[in-house]
Amino acid sequence: MEIDLLLRDADVVTLHDALPRGRAVAVHHGRVVAGLDDDELPAAVRARRVVDAGGATVVPGFDDAHQHTAWFGQSLAEIPLGGLRDLDAVDDAAAARAAGLPGDAFVVGSGYDDVALGESPDRRALDRAGGGRPVWLKHRSAHVCAVSTEVLRRAGVLDGTAAVPAGGVVVRDDAGDPTGVLLEAAQALAGDLLRPYALEDLADAIAGATAVFAREGLTHVTEAGIAGGWIGRSPRELAADQLARERGDLAVRVDLMPETSVLRDVPGGPGRGLDLGLRPGLGDLDLRLGPMKIFFDGALSSRTAAMREPYADRDHAGYLGDDPEALHAALVGAVEGGWTVAAHAIGDRAVDAALDAFADAACRPWPRARPPPRRLEHAGVVDDAALARMAALGVTPMPQARFLYEIGDSMAAAVGDDRVDLLYRHASFLRAGLRVPASSDRPCVADGHPLRGMQSMVQRRTAAGRTPGADEAVDAATALRAYTVDAAWIAGDEDVRGRLAPGFAADLVVLGDDVTRVDPDRIGDIEVVATLRGGRATHGADVLGLPAEGDAP
Ligand SMILES: [Zn+2]
Repeated sequence: MEIDLLLRDADVVTLHDALPRGRAVAVHHGRVVAGLDDDELPAAVRARRVVDAGGATVVPGFDDAHQHTAWFGQSLAEIPLGGLRDLDAVDDAAAARAAGLPGDAFVVGSGYDDVALGESPDRRALDRAGGGRPVWLKHRSAHVCAVSTEVLRRAGVLDGTAAVPAGGVVVRDDAGDPTGVLLEAAQALAGDLLRPYALEDLADAIAGATAVFAREGLTHVTEAGIAGGWIGRSPRELAADQLARERGDLAVRVDLMPETSVLRDVPGGPGRGLDLGLRPGLGDLDLRLGPMKIFFDGALSSRTAAMREPYADRDHAGYLGDDPEALHAALVGAVEGGWTVAAHAIGDRAVDAALDAFADAACRPWPRARPPPRRLEHAGVVDDAALARMAALGVTPMPQARFLYEIGDSMAAAVGDDRVDLLYRHASFLRAGLRVPASSDRPCVADGHPLRGMQSMVQRRTAAGRTPGADEAVDAATALRAYTVDAAWIAGDEDVRGRLAPGFAADLVVLGDDVTRVDPDRIGDIEVVATLRGGRATHGADVLGLPAEGDAP
């Protein structure tokens, strides 16, 4: 018999118990047919293509279980405001971009950090910088934005005709004038002026994002919120992903989470859903409908996450993403309709509210054969009592360790010393018997590179060198499992992806070093030599002479 590919002279970390370490991987028709403990195939088998990895480490392809592909792709074309330390620099960047645009065009930037800047961008200054154009600058958390007067005018804020969405706030000064800062769902007042984005443009953005992902070793991602709410790009957003796939531009496998507002009461019930009775699982391993996404609150960095007690540095405790009864009913209704649910909950009060809803939903009839995965996105502040409830309910935490490096100092200031060790826990979840799939939330806050995410799981270091919840650190092998086996598991793919074992998808990464053996300081800098999705290189084909997408086998 002849197989498609033998990748040999490799140090293969399979994450498969039967052969944890191997020397070669045999691939046929997009799947692993064998992991081998030496470089030779059995005598009766030949490989059409034999590639020497030169001793490099090979691991399963990385999987980011919560990020925002279309948004990240769009942000690649926006003014990069991350790292700017003063407002003048922000205004200058906006002015430079505006100068090249038509007089009525939107000027869009992303990634500003009000903590580093000392305050939020000022509406009047944005008017000057943009030359009167609509200017829309997004905070790095994506839970806040700053806009110019022209945006407020077009949105109807100035003449009072704007309807502020539930869970949103138009910030006003002492005189009652809008400052230009929009919180949470109120950001839709700006976004709706541009939405819906053209599907072709969205497909381009998705393609650009997944090209970056492939270079970083990612072979699967979950898009955490499409089609509705402030996070959706178009009511027809799924069609943009389909278009990207049809063009051959989707460089990773994708699961898509519809945002809760697109679900509705569908005749024939029970519960809430989409037309045709669509629900998670429809599609295939390359593009598939995933869980319903619902926002129970905002973010710590913008002090909009809902806390039980006030922030240590504010006189308020944040707020829930909507009326508590409405959030509860939306989650329960989705479950009754057969939807798995991913509930965004960062503050401990939001975590309580989401767990209450999951507990209620667990008592309702579940119309599907497999038990529902219950996802708690971020799980930012979880005390031991809430953690015990999560374990009892089987609610999977989806924390982002990389947040600790990017905004850990700000988050520590937000919660104060008595709550700091409850931030973005990891090891405690594992000890309670829960699994912790890896995710980045890119482009929100963190850069999303999986290897840097692993380093943060191991080190839990903030930019200033603190280690909030030092006991929550995990070893590098656990971090690697989170980015492979556990992320595949939460997507329902435990038996088909995430390991290099016979029958599994030939999704793999060739690395310049071994994540589990290097000094943790170096994990984030390991070179991604090549990435294969289904046995075809999405990155690095020319380096090793690997089969590329579109090549004959
Ligand atoms: Zn997110």
